[in-house]
Amino acid sequence: MIRAYRFALDPTPRQARNLSRHAGAARVAFNWGLTVVKANLAQRDAERTYGIAERDLTPTLDWSLPALRRAWNRAKPQAAPWWNACSKEAFNTGLDQLAKGLKRWSDSRKGGRTGRPVGFPRFKTKRARTLSVRFSTGTIRLEADRRHVTLPRLGSIKTHESTRKLERKLGAGNARILSANCRFEHGRWFVAFTVETVHSAKTPRRLDAVVGVDLGVTHLAVLSDGTMIDNPRHYEAARRKLARASRTVSRRRGPDKRTGQQASNRWLRANAKRNKVHQKVTYQRRDAIHKLTTTLAHEYSTIVIEDLHVAGMLRNRKLARQIQDVGFGAIRRQLTYKAEWNSGRLIVAGRWYPSSKTCSGCGTVKPKLSLAQRTFKCTTCGLVLDRDHNAARNLAALAAHVAGSGSETVNGRGADRKTTHCVAGGRETSTPPPASIGIRRGPSPGNRRDPEEP
Ligand SMILES: [Zn+2]
Repeated sequence: MIRAYRFALDPTPRQARNLSRHAGAARVAFNWGLTVVKANLAQRDAERTYGIAERDLTPTLDWSLPALRRAWNRAKPQAAPWWNACSKEAFNTGLDQLAKGLKRWSDSRKGGRTGRPVGFPRFKTKRARTLSVRFSTGTIRLEADRRHVTLPRLGSIKTHESTRKLERKLGAGNARILSANCRFEHGRWFVAFTVETVHSAKTPRRLDAVVGVDLGVTHLAVLSDGTMIDNPRHYEAARRKLARASRTVSRRRGPDKRTGQQASNRWLRANAKRNKVHQKVTYQRRDAIHKLTTTLAHEYSTIVIEDLHVAGMLRNRKLARQIQDVGFGAIRRQLTYKAEWNSGRLIVAGRWYPSSKTCSGCGTVKPKLSLAQRTFKCTTCGLVLDRDHNAARNLAALAAHVAGSGSETVNGRGADRKTTHCVAGGRETSTPPPASIGIRRGPSPGNRRDPEEP
């Protein structure tokens, strides 16, 4: 299994300069390669305008990584006389990025790629880009003191945090480092190790336990057993701080594209301070989400969540900020792989499955339920429950049907599976849902459930 471990670094000023130099070397190699490829394509285009036959044109350049590396090694004495100051891995980083970029572009042109069309690679500028460099050969190791990492040409760099998690695995011989990626992000250097680890088969603490998780804005998550996990709302808490920092920024002379005005140093400092507030919120949020998903995956063998239409919800401007604050997409992504690690499974209910509108007691679907109604009151069976708790229970009930286990016996009607599948929610009860209004409301059954099992 391939996993990544990321640690913040505390390099000395000299090491930081050296890291930047390596990242710069990657950019130089990238731009050099792109120039060569572009010149070749332009040459062929020009020759075509002279009416030269296709087979007599200048041959196309091989832009695979090995070919680019060979060409670079021939050209580097002229293109970068200082090449000896950097590890060859630095140049390899840039050439690899270029080879991948060109491949994506040509695949996209041939229609071999899904998603949006990919543009031709563009030159990397010195400004406004993320510095990064990847090492895949040479001395890459974690020191036994768990406070230092050693990288080729850069030597031993102090880490900001303990490397215990990874060091323990390496020490026990359960892991092997494939590469190390250094990246300058949010004003600090990080190293991310790509590691091949032995996957130890884990099992959830509670086998056969099903949990429905209703993700929300008021609470980060409400579980089907009634547990409510509070939304940390870091952004809300930091807003005052952020507003203050933004005011300072706006009072100083910032960059202006129209007039070509350069930012003052005071503006740059203030802006960096503002960014720091944002970054802290990002890290806090990431931490809360990881803790939630890890707990769920460790505890339950089956997790059911909703497929939330995040892009659509963000269009609701009243909710957008809070939804972004929660990070629904990240939660789903993490649950997918963490459930797999723990031999559990994740079920994603279809986007139109009416988890909030269905009564978790009797299965009646309400035609309408406004967002402001925080308590679910069933008019058929008299159930009164917190809105999100009710939704979570409906999601949990869905698991039985995806598995197809015992649904015939539980619903007490002797009905066949097909019938069961057509009714929304609440099938775990022994009371058959009354054939009143609203049961078949909503989209076709096919849409309703969209199981995605890892
Ligand atoms: Zn009811």
